[in-house]
Amino acid sequence: MTRLIHGIPVSRGIAVGPALVVRWEVPSTSDHAIVPAQVEGEVTRLKEALGFAKERLAQVRDRAAVRAGPEEARIFDAQLLILDDIDLVGGSERLIRDNHFTAERAFELKMMEWRGLWSTQGSQLLRDRLIDLTDVEIRVLTRLLGIDEPDVLAGHDGPVILVARELTPSLTVQLDRDAVLAIATEQGTRTSHAAILAHSIGIPAVVGLPDVLGQVKTGEMVVLDGWAGTLKVGPSAADLEDARSGDARHRRLTAQVDAIADQPPVTTDGTRVTLRANLDLPEELDAATHGRAEGIGLMRTEFLVVGRGRMPSEDEQAALYQRIGERFPDGSVIIRTYDLGGDKFPAAFRMAPEPNPFLGWRAIRVCLDHPEIFRPQIRAILRAANKTPVKLMIPLVTRVEEVLLTRAMVQEEAAALASAGIEAASDVPVGVMIETPAAVVIADRLAEVSDFLSVGTNDLVQYTLAVDRGNARLADRFTAHHPAILRSLAAVLEAGSEAKIEVSVCGEMASDPISSWILLGLGYRVLSVAPPNLTLLRWLIRCIAMKDAATCARELLQARTTQEVTAAARAVLGHSVDLALIDPTA
Ligand code: PEP
Ligand code: MG
Repeated sequence: MTRLIHGIPVSRGIAVGPALVVRWEVPSTSDHAIVPAQVEGEVTRLKEALGFAKERLAQVRDRAAVRAGPEEARIFDAQLLILDDIDLVGGSERLIRDNHFTAERAFELKMMEWRGLWSTQGSQLLRDRLIDLTDVEIRVLTRLLGIDEPDVLAGHDGPVILVARELTPSLTVQLDRDAVLAIATEQGTRTSHAAILAHSIGIPAVVGLPDVLGQVKTGEMVVLDGWAGTLKVGPSAADLEDARSGDARHRRLTAQVDAIADQPPVTTDGTRVTLRANLDLPEELDAATHGRAEGIGLMRTEFLVVGRGRMPSEDEQAALYQRIGERFPDGSVIIRTYDLGGDKFPAAFRMAPEPNPFLGWRAIRVCLDHPEIFRPQIRAILRAANKTPVKLMIPLVTRVEEVLLTRAMVQEEAAALASAGIEAASDVPVGVMIETPAAVVIADRLAEVSDFLSVGTNDLVQYTLAVDRGNARLADRFTAHHPAILRSLAAVLEAGSEAKIEVSVCGEMASDPISSWILLGLGYRVLSVAPPNLTLLRWLIRCIAMKDAATCARELLQARTTQEVTAAARAVLGHSVDLALIDPTA
């Protein structure tokens, strides 16, 4: 029987082939105790294994630099840091000395402690990083136990589609495109390290496939669709034919998209659009430059704090922001200050759960209440802005005071840096994210005190339509095509234009071809999207005439229902592009 499993597409492409279900786990250790005379020997063994693991990781990092890119290779720097962590190394050593555990048992216990800490933080970002811990643990334990490193493809001839609970980053980066047609995993998210690496290497991948291990057996034929984010198990002859034609369609689209990859995003009637990239992690920076982004429209900075035992230093942040800024000397690099709260809270914060976290203490509210974390971030942005086009943007604004208070802090920190003789800009552009109905309604007032506005449609849709953005049951209600959103978008643009400041869109709405057509028609000229979506958007812009988009948008603003908006947008866009190419349901 054919089964279709829906997951998250993270690397495009369609693959047909036999599944290879791989289940490798952290090797188990026995818990026999050692005698005091063995203590020094065990400590030496632990150190040798850690040293060996570091050497191997450094090799994997070099391989990642060649196969995926220098930014992606930094994923392994983070793993190397774990191996040097004082709590991990010193703590394991203490368990050997004080409790007379074997080296492997001591290391395993310490890892369990870390895993427990990371998984109880309730943060998606941190859960993403659990697999990095597993990666490190497998590497050290296999050395200590004298077992071979996992070779998932051993004994299998011919290319396969790998099916696993989750892939570790070091395994992913070593996969060979000739041997592995695609990757399907039960866990993982778009920003998990394995997802980023699969995308960089060019292996189609779908993650977050519920219970895929329970539904697929080794040898079973499967079709992985890295565009739609699905895995079909036991496909019929018709399914295989569909997959082939879908693949052909996507190849056609890819050929068209690749052909214009170096061209500017200009409409057929000559309107220039600016395309920037959204970054969740610095590892995505290479993909942004490959996609020819003209800057960063949204650098989320939560990764710097979520999952860490301590807050990042000002120096660390300044170096990072500067590194990103240097990539785009002629662009804009918009650093969004910490959007903590909701599902993103750092371990260092020890935040008590709130009954309604998305309406709670988050984002700019947290930052203003905690100047000791906000000010170092502001200082780091000022330092990076000295020589690079870095700007500061604040999330979840609902009040003008939030902007004024932030601006005052920027001024104070700029003065403090100057009097301390630290090289930094004397000011930095401050922008506001429009993510709440309140911000839409007072957009004119916010525009008066801001240097730019950027619409975060993910939260704007959530708060305007009262639809939780993560609730799968409400997924069809979560749409930017609701007339309330269209009117909000038009109002914000008008407020920004009156104040003569830039208004961009950095929410997911800009990534969807039909929605981006609506945005362009409404008058938006700066869009920021996740790096994998840059070239498709560039292609779309080059296919359309702005006057058609504008006429269409005027009509859409009169629509009464979401369905009317979507249908009318599709109908008009369909005159300029083959909708079947961008939307298989067309
Ligand atoms: C948004 O809300 O649209 C946005 C871009 O911010 P985030 O997705 O990080 O909440
Ligand atoms: Mg948001």
